[in-house]
Amino acid sequence: MPVVDVKHGSLIPKRVAEGVERSRHMERELRAQNERFSAAVENMSHGLCMFDADERMIICNRNYVDIFRLDARVMKPGIRFLDILRHSVDIGIASQSADELYAIRKPYIDGAKASTYEEVLSDGRIIIISHRPLAVGGWVSIYEDVTEHRRAEEELKEQHRLFDAALANMSQGLLMYSAEGRLIVRNQRFLDLCNARAADFKLGMTHRQMLEKLVRLRIFEPIEIDAEVARTKACLQAGQPRSSYRELVDGRTLFVARRPLSGGGWVATFEDVTERRRTEERMIHLAHHDTLTGLPNRSMFRERLDLALEDEAATPFTVFSLDLDRFKAVNDTWGHPAGDWLLKSVADRLQRCLRNETDVVARFGGDEFVIMQFNFKGVANAEKLAKRIVESIAKPFRDKRREMHVGISLGITIFPHDGKDADTLLKNADTALYRAKREGRNLYRFFEPGMDAIVQARRALEVDLETALPRQEFELEFQPIMNIASGEIIGAEALMRWHSPMRGTVAPEDFIPAAEETGLIVPLGEWALRKACAAAAAWPSGLRVAVNASAVQLGSDGFARGVISALAFSGIPAGRLELEITETVLMDESQAVLKALRQLRELGIRIALDDFGTGYSSLGYLRRFPVDKIKIDRSFTRDMRNRDTAAIVRTIIELGTELGIVVTAEGVETEAQLDTLRDLGCIEAQGYLIGAPSKAADIQRLLTSRAQHSRAG
Ligand code: C2E
Ligand code: MG
Ligand code: MG
Repeated sequence: MPVVDVKHGSLIPKRVAEGVERSRHMERELRAQNERFSAAVENMSHGLCMFDADERMIICNRNYVDIFRLDARVMKPGIRFLDILRHSVDIGIASQSADELYAIRKPYIDGAKASTYEEVLSDGRIIIISHRPLAVGGWVSIYEDVTEHRRAEEELKEQHRLFDAALANMSQGLLMYSAEGRLIVRNQRFLDLCNARAADFKLGMTHRQMLEKLVRLRIFEPIEIDAEVARTKACLQAGQPRSSYRELVDGRTLFVARRPLSGGGWVATFEDVTERRRTEERMIHLAHHDTLTGLPNRSMFRERLDLALEDEAATPFTVFSLDLDRFKAVNDTWGHPAGDWLLKSVADRLQRCLRNETDVVARFGGDEFVIMQFNFKGVANAEKLAKRIVESIAKPFRDKRREMHVGISLGITIFPHDGKDADTLLKNADTALYRAKREGRNLYRFFEPGMDAIVQARRALEVDLETALPRQEFELEFQPIMNIASGEIIGAEALMRWHSPMRGTVAPEDFIPAAEETGLIVPLGEWALRKACAAAAAWPSGLRVAVNASAVQLGSDGFARGVISALAFSGIPAGRLELEITETVLMDESQAVLKALRQLRELGIRIALDDFGTGYSSLGYLRRFPVDKIKIDRSFTRDMRNRDTAAIVRTIIELGTELGIVVTAEGVETEAQLDTLRDLGCIEAQGYLIGAPSKAADIQRLLTSRAQHSRAG
């Protein structure tokens, strides 16, 4: 298309027109290019500013103006670089003077080589400025606001610092593994826990290598590494945490917890739980053991018993129920520390009596013990153990200052013969024990089906006995005692009777042991003392009253006080009261009992040793505690026709004469017996021949008439 010069209205020659056309085209091209360039510059994410060789601005973009908060009206092309700096100082964005800023930039501008530097603005923002020289002279500067980026970087750095500090100060050891299963973090505490060096556990090691190293360095006890690696892997893959205890070679225990990380990999923490574990173990031990003796306690015994009941290989087995005899006396006399010591010693001896590794001895509390004996091969088996125990416990217990004597009674049940479950077995063992106690202590008894009824009967008796005293069902009878040489009655022994409305008259042998067991003997004995002394007050003066006192009574607090108050109430002099005690009282060697007896004796009360010859008949304690009288048991009197028995009786009488102790023979029923005793030099006699026990009123009549008779004669 021809180009027409509209202004001149003539056609421009073709060549010229072509030239014009070309230059117009170029102009358009240039404009388009400029527009594209401007658009590109404008849309850059960085600030940009271009200067010519005269340091005048050619072009700048919006970002540049924004970064420096410049006035767009000032920022016209052609403005000198220094003026821009001045402007920035004027608006207060620059943190230095324009000259200073210019001086900093001058070398880059003159050097005409690419350079980058940082400028901090007055508002704290950080701008990275890169200069690049232009081939035609001048330069282009690119500006980047890196404030946010820097802050994020700083934050990350701070986070790392905190993380490091946290890691270093953790009480737990920590290892972190990457998704590839390699060690990427390891804190100092981990090394401390393992007493290891950093070089031992380098970053980059795999879980397996770590475990191998821990075992090789003799930190961990040997473990199955394949299995351990597999277990951990399986748990972590399932996204589940896994924890376990790890025993160290030096005896410590670590608690190891592994937790999967969200981005793959996992964290393992290591905690020294040695102390906690020990405490836990102690607590468990405490819950299952008796603190005093260290033996298993009731709950642990029950667990073992239940296990044994389910275990056919353990069947049959026996359960022993054991109870100390005279333990209360030891406790009361020597005090609780001595009682504790004794229980510990008993526990020791019981343990030594067991021959089988699997046998169990436990303490149920107080002086109650139980034993489970396995490998039962017949009654003889259990009998052997029972005998061993009785013999072992019968031996005196000596500590530095004292010697204690106790005995033990045992009740034995056999599984499954005597019971199919734990409760029945234990109950029946108790029943057998009860029987052993009743039959005289220091005994063992096997459970028998009939025993149950006997025990029930005994319990019923105890219950009845409890109400008998307030209901005044007791009475005293008196049996006269005669001086053999003169034939005179010198006094009487008080013997207790129980007239039960349900049972009729119950013999003392049937209710005294039950009263001792329940402790009722203490108030009952005190009642007898008062009653006997009161009765004696009505007798002719000079006649003595003998009252039986049981070991339990003597061991109780306030016994001596009770005796003294009975005397005071009745008004009879101490010399008219005789206390009959048995050998066991002296054998207990309980200091408190001996002290009380000595005190009473000093007041003038006489002490008689009852039933002599039936117990241990050890005369040794006579030296330690001098008694005033020995009463030969009626079984000897009855059997005096036997030469051996006669010899024993003679020996006792001779010994009494030598020691100045009065000897009384009990149970004299015939003239022949009385003659023999007289011949042997026995001083006193008591028995049906002289007079049966009779009511207080009757005995008073008898004594008064005899006294009148003898005065008359
Ligand atoms: P003990 O102290 O040895 O009393 C003597 C026992 O022999 C009495 O039995 C008496 O009745 C009995 N007896 C007396 N003469 C003869 C005889 O010629 N032949 C036979 N076969 N027996 C005779 P009892 O009254 O049944 O008392 C039994 C035991 O009960 C007493 O033996 C004593 O140990 C105890 N006892 C009785 N009363 C009391 C008491 O008040 N307190 C305490 N702690 N025990 C008592
Ligand atoms: Mg007596
Ligand atoms: Mg007697």
